[in-house]
Amino acid sequence: MEIVQVIIGISTKALDRPFTYIIPKTFRDLVEVGSVVLVPFGKGNTLKEAYVIDRGILTKEPDYQLKEIHDVIHDVKVEKELIKLAYWIHKRYECNITSALKLMVPTDVHSKVKTHKVVTLELDQITKIQDAFQDLEVSKLTTKRQEVLKSLLTRWHEDSKKPIKIPLKEAIQIGKTTHGLLKTLQELGYLTIIDDEIGRDIQVLRKGITSQELILNNEQKMCVDKVACSLNEQETFLLYGITGSGKTEVYMQLIQKVLNRGESVIVLIPEIGLTPLTTRRFVERFGPVVGVQHSKLNAGERYEQWLKAKRGEIQIMVGARSAIFTPFNKIGLIIIDEEHEHTYKSEQNPRYHAREVAIKRSIDHQCPVVLGSATPLIESYHKAMTDNYTLLNLTARAVEGSKRQVTMIDMRHELENGNMSILSNELEQGITDALKKQEQIILFINRRGFANFVSCRKCGFVYTCKDCDVSMTYHANNKRMICHYCGYSLPVDKTCPECGSSYLKAFGAGTQKIQSYIKKTFPNAKIARMDQDTTQKKHGHELILKAFEDKEIDILIGTQMIAKGHDFHNVSVVGVLAADLSLHIDDFRAAERTFQLVTQVIGRTGRGDVNGHAFIQTYSPDHFALKYALEENYIGFYNEEILFRRAMIYPPFCHILQVITLTENEELGMRFLNERVEKIENFVDKEKQFGDIIVLGPAKAGIGRVKGKYRHRLLVKGSSYKQLTNIRKELYNSIDNKLSQVLQIHVDINPLIMY
Ligand code: ADP
Ligand code: ZN
Ligand code: ZN
Repeated sequence: MEIVQVIIGISTKALDRPFTYIIPKTFRDLVEVGSVVLVPFGKGNTLKEAYVIDRGILTKEPDYQLKEIHDVIHDVKVEKELIKLAYWIHKRYECNITSALKLMVPTDVHSKVKTHKVVTLELDQITKIQDAFQDLEVSKLTTKRQEVLKSLLTRWHEDSKKPIKIPLKEAIQIGKTTHGLLKTLQELGYLTIIDDEIGRDIQVLRKGITSQELILNNEQKMCVDKVACSLNEQETFLLYGITGSGKTEVYMQLIQKVLNRGESVIVLIPEIGLTPLTTRRFVERFGPVVGVQHSKLNAGERYEQWLKAKRGEIQIMVGARSAIFTPFNKIGLIIIDEEHEHTYKSEQNPRYHAREVAIKRSIDHQCPVVLGSATPLIESYHKAMTDNYTLLNLTARAVEGSKRQVTMIDMRHELENGNMSILSNELEQGITDALKKQEQIILFINRRGFANFVSCRKCGFVYTCKDCDVSMTYHANNKRMICHYCGYSLPVDKTCPECGSSYLKAFGAGTQKIQSYIKKTFPNAKIARMDQDTTQKKHGHELILKAFEDKEIDILIGTQMIAKGHDFHNVSVVGVLAADLSLHIDDFRAAERTFQLVTQVIGRTGRGDVNGHAFIQTYSPDHFALKYALEENYIGFYNEEILFRRAMIYPPFCHILQVITLTENEELGMRFLNERVEKIENFVDKEKQFGDIIVLGPAKAGIGRVKGKYRHRLLVKGSSYKQLTNIRKELYNSIDNKLSQVLQIHVDINPLIMY
């Protein structure tokens, strides 16, 4: 008897193992490893989706009744490589095999994606209708038919030169007609009713202008040549290139080489805010072989893109994190642009990092990976320095840009001079001048800076943990400063412990508050705000960016969203209102984040014809992250930051495991974690080889309470990833069914955002 082993598509721990089913004769030719099938499951025999992971012959009759496969879902099949990848993810990130398999197939596709009927009027059909109206005698158009055609024609924009396309249902509505009558019009040749797959018309994929290959400069040529030499093997390259150095052109010329070999390319870009612009550059160069994959596509659109990749109808997939699972037959190159971005790490189960998955796939496909950034992750640059990655350099701007000037403003002096506002005199003057010349302004505020840290506005003093060297967080309820790494706490003084002034204040002004302040200061300017609140809607961010591009907005205020990638040519003033906000988040990456942000912000100026001026306001002008950012000196920053990481033992000199507990019972969270610490320490002693593990905490997490649940955090540092996975296992095993009712844990190794 022929049987299969399947994984049921329900993500619960109890069901996370293979189940055996019989293949009925009718499906013998259809079922293979990777097929998605429907099987009867449980007492009620409800039909469940399942993934076939093995196929074979039944050798020993089990002592229970085997059931048969009910149906096979056509079209959806997971390649062997991706099944193996799912198992790798299951192991590396400790998640259910089901949820790992689900990454390989766009969710909910099978039932939801149906083709739907669309009424189309091609250009020649439109002409035919227009002719018919001119000469009603000859045509066979009754008044009713005329009315229907007229109403359909209202959908046509003469200048667009595009055919009309209306979903059948809608056509029936606007024509006040029936399917039957439309069919008759089809027989008469006025229109066509076709089956259309949902989502065929993803806006960004519409081809506009065509771009040609540029002549590479010497540095670019060297980069292309080096990677091109490795197209037959796995090698990871770190392309460190300053903003505007022409990384994208390097990517594109490499892609062309891979396409010439008949192979495919995955291009990862960090987030949706950037997608339209970057994607368009690839579409302009490569046209219809480009596909996209990101979270704002609907299920049908995602599925269609996935299918096209599988069928080889597209060869380049541009997308966010999940595009790394694109089912290309032969990948020839994987590119990760802005590789330092934290969005490449999944914050939910499976907590994978797209870079790690990319390198895994590149081994299976024997192809290179190119990681590109103007501010590489410290860990990545370290890997390049230690010969794990091959370093490629682009040190000069590809095109001579307009001039840019950078000014750092010491906000402590502003205070001394009696200016209590959030704008320094210089920045305010800069904005006034720009408005006069009808140039645009971007004001930037770091959202994650809302964390309450206390700082002296006179001398810049900030409370820092004596053991962890991260900023401490202010807790208003007991007026104490707490370190969220180790739990160390201090009462807040009335006056600054450093200079004795009484300007010791909790920080944090929201974008909204800033907007109303700016409005008051510049009553005649058109001001818009772009942050998570204003971009909830599907095209929210695109609309704001478009309006800014069309100069309908003078001043754009926003979070890091507006600091990246965009290419506005009329911006002459860029301001960071308080660069400190990101320096004092309670995260060991605070300096790195700040360096990245300030570098990006500076990169927004001097792009077009107008000269740019960046104003960086800060209370800590001597901080090395700011100094190097202002000099546009990444190497200098890296050399100093790596010393800190080494001295305090942070990545890349260790791996970090983070456990977060969530519970309504505040005391339970701490107690549970304290017990785990004991366990981990026992464990460490017994095994001896786990000697270099360092436990920090437990402590209240950075965000101490969410939706009525208390959050606590424990950090474990260790030099071996394997050791930390053992601890992770122990942590998961320590929660039985009963405990899991009242306490949840999230365990993450090497998270990019620390909470
Ligand atoms: P990056 O991605 O490194 O920030 P871009 O790829 O956006 O840089 O390039 C910046 C600008 O330089 C773009 O307008 C691009 O068209 C232009 N550019 C890149 N390479 C060349 C080249 N070899 N010759 C002329 N212009 C170039
Ligand atoms: Zn002070
Ligand atoms: Zn501490």
